This record gives sequence, C-alpha cells and structure tokens, in this order.
Amino acid sequence: MKQQLNAVFVLTLATVLLLSAFAVWRIKDFDNRRIRLLASSQQIQNGLDNNFANTRAIGVMRSHLRMYMNSGESEKMLLVHRDVEQLKKTLGPAYQDELVNFHKMLEVLDVRMRSLRHNSLTTFKAESDIMAISSSLMHGAGPEYFFVIQQLNSQTCLKHHHFYGQLTMSGQIGNIESALQEESELFVEIDRMLMDLAQKFPPELQKIVHELRDAYYELDESVTTIASIRIHTLRTQSKMMEILDTLESSIAADSLQQNEASHTLMADSLSLARKDISLMYSSLILTGIFFVLIALLLNHGMVTPLVRFVELLQNVTHLLTGLRTREVSGDENFKQLARMANTQHNEIGDVARSLENLVRRLRDLALFRHAIENDQTSSEIFQRLGRIFSDKIGIESFIIYERQIDKPGMKGVCVYPESIIETVSNIKEKSKCRAWRTGAMVSSLEIPDICDCNHVPPEMEVICLPMQIGTHVMGVVQLLIPIENGNSMNTSLQTNLDEAKYYIAETLPVLQSRQLATKLKCMATEDSLTGLFNRRYLELSLDRLSVATQRRNSQIGILMCDVDYFKSVNDDYGHDAGDEVLLQLARILTRHTREMDLVIRFGGEEFLILLVDCKENKAMAMGERLRQAVEAHEFRIPRCTLYKTISIGVANFTGKENQEIRDVIKEADVALYQAKQDGRNRIVQSA
Ligand code: GH3
Ligand code: MG
Ligand code: MG
Repeated sequence: MKQQLNAVFVLTLATVLLLSAFAVWRIKDFDNRRIRLLASSQQIQNGLDNNFANTRAIGVMRSHLRMYMNSGESEKMLLVHRDVEQLKKTLGPAYQDELVNFHKMLEVLDVRMRSLRHNSLTTFKAESDIMAISSSLMHGAGPEYFFVIQQLNSQTCLKHHHFYGQLTMSGQIGNIESALQEESELFVEIDRMLMDLAQKFPPELQKIVHELRDAYYELDESVTTIASIRIHTLRTQSKMMEILDTLESSIAADSLQQNEASHTLMADSLSLARKDISLMYSSLILTGIFFVLIALLLNHGMVTPLVRFVELLQNVTHLLTGLRTREVSGDENFKQLARMANTQHNEIGDVARSLENLVRRLRDLALFRHAIENDQTSSEIFQRLGRIFSDKIGIESFIIYERQIDKPGMKGVCVYPESIIETVSNIKEKSKCRAWRTGAMVSSLEIPDICDCNHVPPEMEVICLPMQIGTHVMGVVQLLIPIENGNSMNTSLQTNLDEAKYYIAETLPVLQSRQLATKLKCMATEDSLTGLFNRRYLELSLDRLSVATQRRNSQIGILMCDVDYFKSVNDDYGHDAGDEVLLQLARILTRHTREMDLVIRFGGEEFLILLVDCKENKAMAMGERLRQAVEAHEFRIPRCTLYKTISIGVANFTGKENQEIRDVIKEADVALYQAKQDGRNRIVQSA
C-alpha cells in the first residue's frame, strides 16, 4: 500500500511538473508570438497611415499644380515645391527617382510658364503696335479707308483675344492646335487683305501698311510661340500628373500589399489562437485522462481494497457482536476476510491476517464462554478450562485449585496429567498461598523458590495465576514446567501464558455468577440465624420428597418440635440469649439426625424434622432421643447457663391412599399441640 502510494505520488508529481513545464513553454511561446504579431500589426498600421498621408499629400500637390497651371502665380509654384520636398521626406527610397524626375519637370514647367508670360507680353506689345500703326494708317489713308482699317483691326483683335484665350485657358492640346490653325489662316487672310490694301495706297502709306503687316507677323509669331509653349506645358503637366498617378498607384499597391500582409497577419493570429486553443484542449483532455487513470489506479489499488476492507471490518464487527449465535468460520464475511488475508500482500493483508487471527481467537473464546455459561456447576467449568489448557493451548502440566464456598481453603479440582495427582495437596488457608494472598502472578522462573505452599516436584518450575475478580480470588491455576524446558520465560511459554490468561478472564465472570447464584439460592432457602433450611426450602422440596418416598414405597417420619416456654428466655435474659439458645438447639437437632434427614426452622422457636425413609416406630424413638438430648443440654449463654425442654408432635407420611404430605405435617402440628396440652417436655404420636 505504501509503495503504491509512493508510486502514485511520484507519478502525479512528475506529470504535474511536466504539464507545468509544457504550460510555461506554451505561455512563453504564445507571448513571443503575440509580441511579434503586435509589432507587425503596428508596422502595417504605420505603413498604411504613412501611405494615406502620402496619398493625401499627392492630392494636395496635384491641386497646387493645377492652381499654378491655371494662375501661373509663383506662390503656387512655391507650394508645389514645398509639397515635393515634403514628399521626398515621407516617401520611401523607391519613390525618390520619380520625385527627382518630377522636380526636374517642375523646373522645366517653371521655365515654360515664364516663357509663356514673356510671350504674352510680346503679344500684347504686338497688339498695341498694331493699334498704333493702324491708327496712323487710318489718318494717312483718309476717311474712305478709315472704316475698312478699323473693321480689319477690330476683327483681328477680337479673334486674337479669342485665340489667346483658347491658347492660355484650354487644357486640351487638340483645341489649342485647331485654334492655332484658325489663327494662322486668319493671319494669311489679314496678310492678303493688307497686300491688297497696300496696292491701293501711295508709297508712304504702303510703308505703313508694311509696318502693320510686320506687326501682324510679330503677333502671329508670339501667338504661335505661346501655343507651342502651352502645348509643351500641357504635355509636361500631363507627364507630371502621370508621375503623380504612378506614385499614387505605387502607394495604393503598397497599401494593398500592407492590407494583404495585414490579412496574412490576421490569419496567422487566428491560426496561432486556434493552435493554442487546440493545444489547450489537448492538455485538458490529457490531464483529464491522466487524472482518470490516477483515480482508476487509486481506486483499483487502494480505495477499492480499503473500502472493501472497511466494509468487511463493519461486517466483522457485527459478526463479533453476534458471535455467540453464529458460526463464524462459515460466515461469508469471515471467508472474505480470510481470502483477503491470503491474497493481499501488503499492509491491508497484514491487518486482515491479524484481524482473522483475532476473530478466530474471539470466536474460540466466545464458544468457550458459551459452553461454560451452559455448564451447571463450577466443577464442570473448571474441567472445561482444564481441557482448553491441555488440548488447545498445549500446557503440559497444571493443577487448578478452587476456592471453597462454605469452607475455608482451596481444593484441587482439575489435574493434568493424571500422573501428577500426588502433587496435589489442598491449600488450607490464604496465608499459605502467595498467589491467593497477593492476587498477583507468582513465578519461580523469575524468583526461584518464591512459594512453598504446595509440594512441587524439584524437577518442576511453577507459575501460579490467581483467578480473581476485584479483590475476590475464586481459585488459582498452577502451571508446572519441567526444568529441562529451560528455566526462563521463552516466547512460546509467554504465548501459552497469555492465552491461558484470556481463557481465565473469560471464566471469571461465569464462575462468579455461578458462586453468587449458589449463594443467593442458599440465602433464599437457608435460615440466617441457625443455618438450617427454612420454610421456603421445605415448600420447594415437599413435592419432590413426597413423590420420591411414594416411588420408593417408603415413609417419612415427621417431627414438629417447639421449645417450651421460650418466651421467658427472651423476657428474662434478652433477645440475644434467646438467639443463642435457638442456635444451640439447631446444632443439637442436626447432630442427632442423619445427613439425609431435613431439619427445618419452621418458624420462631418451632422446628420441623423430616426423617427420610423412616419407619413408623422409628420416628417416635428418634423424637424421644431428641427430646432427651435437649433436656440434658446445658445452654450456655452470657453470664449463665440454662436448661430448656422441647415438646414434639409425631406423624408418619406413607403416601398411601392419596395421603398429602402437607396434611401429615398439620397432623404432627396437632400432635404437638396435644403434647403442650399434656404438660410439655413430651412426645405425642398423631392419632
Ligand atoms: P409454649 O410452651 O406454649 O410454646 O410457650 P412459649 O413461650 O414457647 O410460646 P410463645 O408462642 O408464647 O412464645 C414464643 C416466643 O418465641 C415469642 C417470641 O418472642 C420468641 N421467638 C420467636 N422467634 C424468636 C427468635 O428468633 N429469637 C428469639 N430470641 N425469640 C424468638
Ligand atoms: Mg411456638
Ligand atoms: Mg414454645
């Protein structure tokens, strides 16, 4: 059991340690992974935030670029520059080339825009030259050409503004090209009209017309340049926008990538969590299985036998309680206990074996007790105890002495073996027996020649065990041990002695109750003053006596005796003197009758004597002898001597003709009355 317990303990400890180590490893690993996941997640979040900020910055830059393109204001250009510098800082190295490219284009754009402004000034100058030359031409040409030139100028200026507006405002290269085409056609037309006009004018006016024509060429030249710059500007802007688009789409792609990474991260987290949950479940299931196994092991190895053993103990306790009435060896519980004692080779087995021995011993003791309780006399009890000593315990030699109830001293009542009978000599008084006197075990093995109360053969050691309850010794068991067996208390002798003590202990209460019962019976049937049988005893024995007498065809002589003038003894000498007279009278009556006769104190100073198997004439003779003995007796009482007489009534019980013994006693009483009447101190035969 202890080994099993240790094994289970070690197994449990090892498993708990293993599970704890596994749990610590899992927690640590899980924590590391969690930290990694958090860092990655943070990184993704930062990346996405950065991308979002960059996209927003690109959007702002795009709008600043448009504003610059529309207004041509240098402040707006500065804003775009600032945006580029900002993006350079926030965008990664992969985007730096694009940004450099963008920056270069921005510078080109700046140059072109400045050129555009410059050419616009040239245009305005050409326009004002045209207006000035036209005006001098109108003055020189006279009123008939005034309206022609004015109309030419106004149409030209109108269309020019229209073209100029289209060139500077339109974002569509196609529109600019078609406007440029229209304008060149217009200039061709104007040039043709001016050539026609010049042929009609004198040479000094023709010179002005040619100046006007040059101004128109100048205008055409600057507009064409503006258109060309505008187209290039738009292309540059478009390229820049493309760069911004590329940047945006790269950032978007990066964001998508980050998103995917985030998805992967989430999937990783989920799988990690799933793994951990499944690991946790597995650990729980494993732990559960382990504990079930431990429980089964415990149950199988320890709890079940223990529970069975405890149940068995309970049953055995019940069994022991009812030991007297049950056959123990046939009892199923006892068989189970015996099986357990044989099969369990552990502490439970040891306890079961001890218990089995105990039950056997208790059963034997109980059977012994049961047997002696049914024995009628103390002599039978002593004989049975002797048989146990010799046959069961195996004591080689012993004598059991019984304390006499009515006499002093002890008498040897059981001797084993018969051959040592000459060793037995009755113990006359208490002072002669050390065990009786001290109430303790006496052993010559411990102290040689400790006791010399009995004649013990010299080749024997002696151990005397008093049979004692309280201070009352009821007997002594004397064990005789041959000296050749060794003169010391060895184990087997000690075991025999212990066993003997158990049986003696069982005997004592039964013996005591027997002795008490005997005493009680005596007290109930005995007169306490005289020690004679009393009237109750007479009542108990009358029927038996009557039947026995009839069966034997015999007779009983009945003498009813009464002390004459007894009252005067009490009156003259006191009640104690009266008691003494009665006691002495009882001794006279007992002494002068046979042992088989019954002398009964019938009441007060009246005595009834039943002379068993007595013929008719013999009763009268016996009565007369008694009367004379009393008459002659000197009653010694304190301080004086008395003489007393008795009167006797005699009757005979024959049992014939349905004669009743009680009636015959009454007849004797009547005869006694007659004797009193006749003068006392006499004997009268019933009629
Ligand atoms: P009689 O010759 O007529 O028998 O006269 P008696 O005095 O013997 O008879 P009685 O019946 O008048 O007296 C009996 C006396 O015996 C009365 C009682 O005090 C006495 N007595 C009876 N029992 C005892 C006893 O146990 N002890 C003593 N001391 N006296 C007893
Ligand atoms: Mg009387
Ligand atoms: Mg009398």
